[in-house]
Amino acid sequence: MTEQKKINRRQVIKYSLGGAALTALAELVPETAVSKTSDKRNLKTGKIVVVGAGAFGGWTALHLLRKGYDVTLIDQFGPGNNQSSSGGETRLIRAFYDKQIYFDLTCRAVELWKENEPRMGQKVLFQNGLILFNYKQNTPELDVAWPMYKKAGLPIEKISLADAAKRWPQVRTEGLDHIMYDPNAGYLEARKGCIAVADLFIKEGGSFLQQKVQKESIANGKVNSITLADGKVLEAESFVFACGPWLTRLFPALTKKLKVTRALEIFVASPSDQSDFMENKLPTWMDRDLDGPFRAFGVPGSAFRGFKIGITPPMDNNVTDRFDTYDRLVRPEELMLVQKLVASRFPKLVGQPVIEQRVCQYTMTPDTDFILDQHPEASNLWVMGGDSGHGYKLGASFGEMAASTVLKEIKVNELFALKRLLG
Ligand SMILES: Cc1cc2nc3c(=O)[nH]c(=O)nc-3n(C[C@H](O)[C@H](O)[C@H](O)COP(=O)(O)OP(=O)(O)OC[C@H]3O[C@@H](n4cnc5c(N)ncnc54)[C@H](O)[C@@H]3O)c2cc1C
Repeated sequence: MTEQKKINRRQVIKYSLGGAALTALAELVPETAVSKTSDKRNLKTGKIVVVGAGAFGGWTALHLLRKGYDVTLIDQFGPGNNQSSSGGETRLIRAFYDKQIYFDLTCRAVELWKENEPRMGQKVLFQNGLILFNYKQNTPELDVAWPMYKKAGLPIEKISLADAAKRWPQVRTEGLDHIMYDPNAGYLEARKGCIAVADLFIKEGGSFLQQKVQKESIANGKVNSITLADGKVLEAESFVFACGPWLTRLFPALTKKLKVTRALEIFVASPSDQSDFMENKLPTWMDRDLDGPFRAFGVPGSAFRGFKIGITPPMDNNVTDRFDTYDRLVRPEELMLVQKLVASRFPKLVGQPVIEQRVCQYTMTPDTDFILDQHPEASNLWVMGGDSGHGYKLGASFGEMAASTVLKEIKVNELFALKRLLG
């Protein structure tokens, strides 16, 4: 077995390019977590099947493989497919959270991307920073997040509107109180990242199947096998279902409290006569008017795609009962929200045409915390999901945690337990 890199439990975890460090994740991740690559000649006993090759399942499969297990990853439409939640162009990374665990997972995820990009032979992570438009002097989220940055020795800046106007003249700041700037945040290329993870998984010895899992057979407190759409039956010691919105179809009794909701990604043409709206001139951004009508976020100009504006529309966006059957079209009134946002924050883009639009979906839990737990009726069946619109950036580290949890190296974290969603 090739020893690629030993990560010491106490190893510092770097989020910044410059080397600011924190150690908190040592509490969450055991020493073996990312230490070895798999070699089929030296398999540990037990085959593991991971269903779903999105941000959560793909990374979980890779981590399990590196712990020496025989892992099969299955996806009905392929890694990062266009119907999945992970199928978009880009996803933001930001460490500000009101819970320490997500802050730590973000830092760890960034480290994992940096460590794995050379093995993938491509760049997926872009740390061009993030600016957060704040409408109030204090917000509960930032009051809690600020000390986490400080404790970790990571930079976070509170920028006055006068200074912001000098640094980012392409942003209109009217109505804001200030701007927060996290220079180590940025974005990941989402679909490309899932494909890169799956490719790496295969390169390192994992098996990938593009198939639909039709059903699992639970008997005597265990799943012994799953049946694929082509009738093939797969047996394994453990099964991880990281199926995004499809969890609501596969395990309806466990997922009654989940809601699948629409979110929009609109690409506006960058003006040809100025480069202000490319990622080297403007960080990623979030407009979180917590009392306002909608939340918006965006990535300027990744891969020359245009200026991306993401929006969670306020109206009629619950599609739990039809998420895989309706036409994913952006509505005229939703495009008006985008125009409103452009006028209020990026006036130089007013009049620029919309060049691409897509509808994507989150799987919301009532508390917005993820799910990672054993099925109550089957000790070897693991349910992973409930991304709540913030899971992509954390796929790498949450997958690492999932691998350790499935192998019982660490306990189920109560925050992600299923029991909170039952009853
Ligand atoms: C518009 C938008 C913007 C977002 N922005 C951000 C952001 O800025 N930052 C961030 O961190 N997150 C963001 N997110 C959220 C992020 O994309 C999700 O949290 C993440 O992609 C969830 O990944 P997942 O693996 O849980 O689910 P998915 O990506 O949906 O993967 C589940 C996979 O399971 C497969 N599957 C399901 N059922 C079966 C079956 N029976 N058999 C075989 N395969 C099956 C599916 O084909 C699918 O590929 C955003 C989401 C949207 C929609």
